[in-house]
Amino acid sequence: MSDDFDIVIAGGGMVGVSLALQLGAVLPAATTILLVEGVPIPAALDGGVPDYHPAFDARSTALSYSSRQIYEAMGVWEDLRQWLCAIESIHVSSRGRFGSTLLQASDYHWPALGYVVENAWLGNALIQQLYRQGRVEVRCPAKVVGARPEGKGVALQLEGEGPHSRFSAGLLLVADGAHSRLRDQLGIAVNEKPYRQHALVANIASAESHGGCAYERFTDTGPLALLPLLKAGGSENRSALVWTLPAVQARHLRDCSKTEFLNVLQERFGYRLGRLIKVGERHEYPLSLVQSSEQVRQGIVVMGNAAHALHPVAGQGFNLALRDVAELGRVLGQGIVAGQAPGDLKMLQRYQRRQQPDQDRTIQFSDRIPALFMHGDPMLGLGRDLALAGLDIMPSLKREFVRYAAGMGNGT
Ligand SMILES: Cc1cc2nc3c(=O)[nH]c(=O)nc-3n(C[C@H](O)[C@H](O)[C@H](O)COP(=O)(O)OP(=O)(O)OC[C@H]3O[C@@H](n4cnc5c(N)ncnc54)[C@H](O)[C@@H]3O)c2cc1C
Repeated sequence: MSDDFDIVIAGGGMVGVSLALQLGAVLPAATTILLVEGVPIPAALDGGVPDYHPAFDARSTALSYSSRQIYEAMGVWEDLRQWLCAIESIHVSSRGRFGSTLLQASDYHWPALGYVVENAWLGNALIQQLYRQGRVEVRCPAKVVGARPEGKGVALQLEGEGPHSRFSAGLLLVADGAHSRLRDQLGIAVNEKPYRQHALVANIASAESHGGCAYERFTDTGPLALLPLLKAGGSENRSALVWTLPAVQARHLRDCSKTEFLNVLQERFGYRLGRLIKVGERHEYPLSLVQSSEQVRQGIVVMGNAAHALHPVAGQGFNLALRDVAELGRVLGQGIVAGQAPGDLKMLQRYQRRQQPDQDRTIQFSDRIPALFMHGDPMLGLGRDLALAGLDIMPSLKREFVRYAAGMGNGT
């Protein structure tokens, strides 16, 4: 069987589905787009609880103001709004030290510093919009198992239900995650810096309400974030925990009894949310900084975690990927309307030139923070305390930090 598409997106995770929506919205109707996802995408729901999908898992994501603007333009925000908890303030502190600072949306006359959404609900809203838009063909469950440059595009091999299929694509968008097999198959090298830390993720119920506050607490074993969530069933005070720990401790805390887990967390976090009374399913992820050595070639763009997977401490990975998605949409939209082929190398390089400064700044920011706050050197500890206190003393510095945290440091 043979079939041809102008654009094929390999990978329907949070980035692949967002890409499909963005391209569906901005490209001319004659441009054919195919989305291929390996794991069945759950049917969209108007109510109830969405089915589990590994790319839309039990985690939560903090969306920045720049992501809000992108999803508003895509028409997803209205739907998403009901699942979002606004971050009205961010409390940054360091365990065992005096420095702390409070960043408040009201000080900047912003509606919020960010928004927290459970990935399952984000996935549900994106998929509903994809079906509603009806612009992109979806093959699922199916996998792109072969990709090689051919002419000005890429020859692809698909594996899924039924016999193997061969396609050609004018442009292949590689969005198959941090361990991208397609990136390897295309001979694109990857730079990986393991952090030798794991992220432990779980939902926590507390006696007191978070009041829209996100807590970022730096401890000697790694940063610990509690992000505000909407109340489940209207009753429980819930927060999403992202706790960065050495691998052995993360594994132990994933497997130990709930009582032991809550006791240790309470001791590390303190009583800002009152007593911590419940923990949901615990998941653990090894952390490393993964960067593709190349992001564009003739007929190919590497996107999302396949292009750059970051430390989750500052909640920047997906927000950055979404800014990439919006910029690629802009560049392809202008180029294709002007008669350029979707895989035109010069056009794809223009995309990379425009996004590179944002990518460099965001990656450096995410990479530096955990190292700074984990250092055992007392002088660095003092510097860190002064940095936290300094944020409170110097409004202009604080404003810079907040703009950055809100994904607006790039001038959006
Ligand atoms: C603990 C943690 C917390 C985080 N919190 C935040 C946050 O608060 N804010 C933020 O901005 N970011 C956050 N991030 C980062 C964010 O999760 C990632 O940026 C995002 O998940 C990347 O999605 P992706 O679609 O690129 O990759 P993935 O989620 O890995 O999706 C890849 C998809 O490709 C599919 N696939 C694989 N191979 C093939 C193939 N050959 N053919 C077809 N399909 C294929 C897979 O089935 C999968 O669905 C966090 C990350 C972690 C680990």
